[in-house]
Amino acid sequence: MVSWEECSKTQPRVVKLLKNSIRKQRLAHAYIFEGAHGTGKMATATVLAKTFLCRNSEDGNPCESCSNCKRITSGNHPDVHIITPDGQNIKIDQIRGLQKEFAYSGMESSKKVYIIEHADKMTVQAANSLLKFLEEPGNDTIALLLTEQVHRLLDTIRSRAQTLTFSPLPPQGILEKLLQDDIPKPVAMLASSLTSDYAEALEICREEWFAQARAKVIQLTEDLRLRPDYCLVVLQDQYLSFFKEKDQLRLALNLLLIWYRDLLSIHLSNSENVVFFDQLQALEQQALHTSQKKTGEALQAILTAQARLRSNVSSLMVMEQLVLRLREG
Ligand SMILES: [Zn+2]
Repeated sequence: MVSWEECSKTQPRVVKLLKNSIRKQRLAHAYIFEGAHGTGKMATATVLAKTFLCRNSEDGNPCESCSNCKRITSGNHPDVHIITPDGQNIKIDQIRGLQKEFAYSGMESSKKVYIIEHADKMTVQAANSLLKFLEEPGNDTIALLLTEQVHRLLDTIRSRAQTLTFSPLPPQGILEKLLQDDIPKPVAMLASSLTSDYAEALEICREEWFAQARAKVIQLTEDLRLRPDYCLVVLQDQYLSFFKEKDQLRLALNLLLIWYRDLLSIHLSNSENVVFFDQLQALEQQALHTSQKKTGEALQAILTAQARLRSNVSSLMVMEQLVLRLREG
């Protein structure tokens, strides 16, 4: 069960603003919640709906025990409507259906909430139909439009709603949430350095392939350090056969970049920043045999490899050149 407190951990500014408006009874009749996937837009929408419909709400908090709160928690309140894309789009019939529902007075009171997920996926017809709806709001209706792509909403819709921006989570916030989801720390640390999108980080962690990719990259750094010539020989069989697709190789290069950033952290005596924290010994060994300057050059070489990969140079050529440059370090 989500609460304001929970939402506030990741979106303190949005929660403060909404709670203030509730206390002052100045809620807008339409909000756009915009921000990346996994930033808590739906959770916040649910708590807002609950607070709005709660029979005993106090100081801007829902009571969690009245029938309205309970039904929203279980996801079946008759006056809270959630619209999600039907296939690729939100179609005009879905908006019409909503309007029909709202033509009847509320089941419990006149208060109603509708939440449109991925509101940017409304067809033009659906958006125009919604627009008419927003122009003649019922007194006690709140519309919550959720989107990751606010620029794709019609200007006319944006001008009729108050936009609240949900900030991306900081790496530390993502890491904490992943650990709460029982993701092992080495994997969670790495995923939270790769994306500021919690849901994406969680998806990365749950792919078994990711843990294998992590192990592969660690193996590569060891080969580079201990057997640089062998490394070139097995590049195709050991590595490129694993990182087959360009997307996979791109990820490998990102992991390698994090490894060398870790190495730099050790040179700078910032080992508390190390992402590959369970490889500290290997990193420290490597740091003994390379300079800070060489580490900086290695980082540059990886960035160059990433750029070459983007410009469609073959994976093998990109990696051969990278290995040649990295083993010099
Ligand atoms: Zn309640």
